[in-house]
Amino acid sequence: MSQRVFEGNKLVIASHNEGKIKEIRDLLKPLKIDVLSAKDFKMIEPDENGVSFEENALIKSSFVSKQSGLPSLSDDSGICFPDLNNSPGIYSARWAGKNKNFSLAMLKVYNGLKKLKKPTNKCFFICSLSLAWPDGYNVTVSGKVDGVFTWPPRGKKGFGYDPIFTPLGHNMTFAEMEPDFKHGISHRSFAFKKLIDLCFPTLKTL
Ligand code: IMP
Repeated sequence: MSQRVFEGNKLVIASHNEGKIKEIRDLLKPLKIDVLSAKDFKMIEPDENGVSFEENALIKSSFVSKQSGLPSLSDDSGICFPDLNNSPGIYSARWAGKNKNFSLAMLKVYNGLKKLKKPTNKCFFICSLSLAWPDGYNVTVSGKVDGVFTWPPRGKKGFGYDPIFTPLGHNMTFAEMEPDFKHGISHRSFAFKKLIDLCFPTLKTL
């Protein structure tokens, strides 16, 4: 089958995470389409039981697309620390617990690294984006950004693990950067660039 291009005027973001929904909305703004989210449909969230970011992204996009009857875009992302066997990885959200306490999740990372003799403090964010249509067709891509663990956490912008992540070549954490600046260098923006090339060719020229 040839590559499918997005041609509709409505898209549902398969997420309940406000931080992600906002970033994705910002990135899709030039498209001038109606961007809804799974929250607008009061949908339940599917079990994210995949073993990779891409598998989980596809589980979410195909679930929401089938439920809503509209194309759906999902984001599965997280932070990985090679010193900690790439944890928290696909469990990044779960490390924050039911109350989504990211101060606690960041402290868990700190405590894990503190136990090691010579931590490299290397880390990276991964973002997999999956665009699925109600008939089951999907396009799933990933982006990555490398960085260094930063302690204590710095900055109030952004969300999740942003305050402990300083991208390579920069001296501010993601949480200290203006959102537009982060959008230009993030794992999510690299995945978006791939998705735009494949599915939103008109966006490239905007
Ligand atoms: P999930 O993709 O819904 O499983 O959740 C991924 C989790 O990874 C989020 O809840 C965030 O904690 C974290 N995460 C993903 N992308 C970012 C980012 O750009 N900044 C900070 N944290 C992120």
